[in-house]
Amino acid sequence: MYSIEYEVSLAKPAAHLFHVRCLIHKPDPGGQVLSLPAWIPGSYLIRDFAKNIVSISASCDGESLPLQRLDKESWQCPPCKGTLQLQYEVYAWDPSVRTAQLDHEYGFFNGTSLFLRVHGQEAEPSGLTIQVPADPLLQAWQVFTTMPVVKADKQGFGQYMANDYDELIDHPVAMGEASTATFEAAGVPHTVALFGQHRADLPRICNDLSKICEQHIYFFDEQAPVEHYLFIVRVLGEGYGGLEHRASTVLVSKRDCLPSVNESEISDDYRIFLGLCSHEYFHTWNVKRIKPAAFTPYDLQTENYTELLWAFEGITSYYDDLGLVRSGVITAESYLELLGQMITRVARGKGRLQQNLVESSFYAWTKFYQQDENAANAIVSYYTKGALASLCLDLTIRRHTQNKKSLDDVMQLLWQRHGQTGVGVPEESVEAIASEVAGVDLGDFFAATLRSTAELPLSELLNHAGVDLYWRAAESQKDNGGKPAKQKPGVELGAQYTEVNGALKVQVVTTDTAAQRGGLSAGDIIVACNGLKAKSSTLTAELKSCQPGDTLKLHVFRGDRLLVLDIELLEPELTTCFLQQQKGATTEQQEWFNNWLKLN
Ligand code: ZN
Repeated sequence: MYSIEYEVSLAKPAAHLFHVRCLIHKPDPGGQVLSLPAWIPGSYLIRDFAKNIVSISASCDGESLPLQRLDKESWQCPPCKGTLQLQYEVYAWDPSVRTAQLDHEYGFFNGTSLFLRVHGQEAEPSGLTIQVPADPLLQAWQVFTTMPVVKADKQGFGQYMANDYDELIDHPVAMGEASTATFEAAGVPHTVALFGQHRADLPRICNDLSKICEQHIYFFDEQAPVEHYLFIVRVLGEGYGGLEHRASTVLVSKRDCLPSVNESEISDDYRIFLGLCSHEYFHTWNVKRIKPAAFTPYDLQTENYTELLWAFEGITSYYDDLGLVRSGVITAESYLELLGQMITRVARGKGRLQQNLVESSFYAWTKFYQQDENAANAIVSYYTKGALASLCLDLTIRRHTQNKKSLDDVMQLLWQRHGQTGVGVPEESVEAIASEVAGVDLGDFFAATLRSTAELPLSELLNHAGVDLYWRAAESQKDNGGKPAKQKPGVELGAQYTEVNGALKVQVVTTDTAAQRGGLSAGDIIVACNGLKAKSSTLTAELKSCQPGDTLKLHVFRGDRLLVLDIELLEPELTTCFLQQQKGATTEQQEWFNNWLKLN
């Protein structure tokens, strides 16, 4: 018997309610305090999960106790002798990977949404019982989790355990009728569980994932840091996202991103899915075990500030796609296309001129996770620019060491010194270890890359690997870059919009573009362009027929006021990037390229 026991019941799927019972056998004699976390590790936003508790009560040996509310997520029980029991219901109707969800088709929870933290007993092991559902519609359900099992039936209902609270909330649980398959990577079993209607070729997904996972395992070590790994994939019509855990990941994927049995090529959508899997899997080392000191331990009640998210998310974003080419799942040409798209995404955001990478990391809690219509003009992403900074760091270390050392060595040292030991990474250590590996002080490199808004020296560094970087104008709103242009560039408006109710709603106006100079604003509803009813195709056609210096007349509603804007169109900015291997690359450049992408 564990000193803390949780029981989860699925009695009310139609109401989207999980019923939880928590037994504390040795409550704090001074009055037990309990709380739910304010955020979930991996997603840096205060979410106040306790707001989803719709009812809560306490009792001791059958006698009801009054609960004192301490704040928005904490309660205190009066002192009691004997076992303290809490009963509460949690509303679970969020399709994202961060909270919980329950209906007759799918059940899912993160521990941060369901398990009250017993203050003072965080280091104690706890037991979890997931009760067999009584509802006949749930009879075929199975339970999927990496939480250590104590005793469960064939479907997975029964008893589990966690060694401490940190572990308890890091093994999410998914339930339902899933399509599953298992593969081995470096001798370790991996399970993929697809929830939701799909037409996916699961054996093909497993075949690709096995290569990617094995590549990441051998990148860090001789063996995986887990005994079993689980990919929980929620398949939906729309959606994208993932959250990393110590031995599993929870992903949301668009149905069309998964390959069907009749496809053999790697579609752009499937490449995105594999990149997401690769990203979350790399986190098994980078952020789940190699952790910032600021997260060691996590303070789950408040924001945990670190300037290192560029390393934990940016380096992970660099190695996610690199892992695809290094494992042979995509070609070098396909990788260069992905890299060109990443460079394009960063170049199009004017916020890169306002915010540097350490600021971006620090303000994740507000500026990155609470983006508004001006975000692209005000902030830079520690994911995308962090990935490009990682690429620059990789190529810079290779340059200083004649291609003998690289960012790979930095990651392996971080793994040995911090991942395997559990010692948090101090704020300055990634830079120190990189300088150590490079054999020179990289202080100037980091000052320019992390602490300034200077453009990254991508073109110069990629040249060492025989790769040329080209800039061109965007061809349309849908042009993500990564490939040469198909047509001649025209003019640029500098706004993003979507069709809504027969008009165009402006979502973003980019700093210092024709749209902004001409007075267009985010939120405006364009009803006519050059006197014609505003449709996406009409605006595109009007812009195509224009030259720089021409005027576009827009009728727009701002609130209930009709404005007439004369917008003088400008030359398009060259912010779309594509990369190409040089035809006449030297042997040395070719060696760099092969060593970087691990091609043989
Ligand atoms: Zn990530």
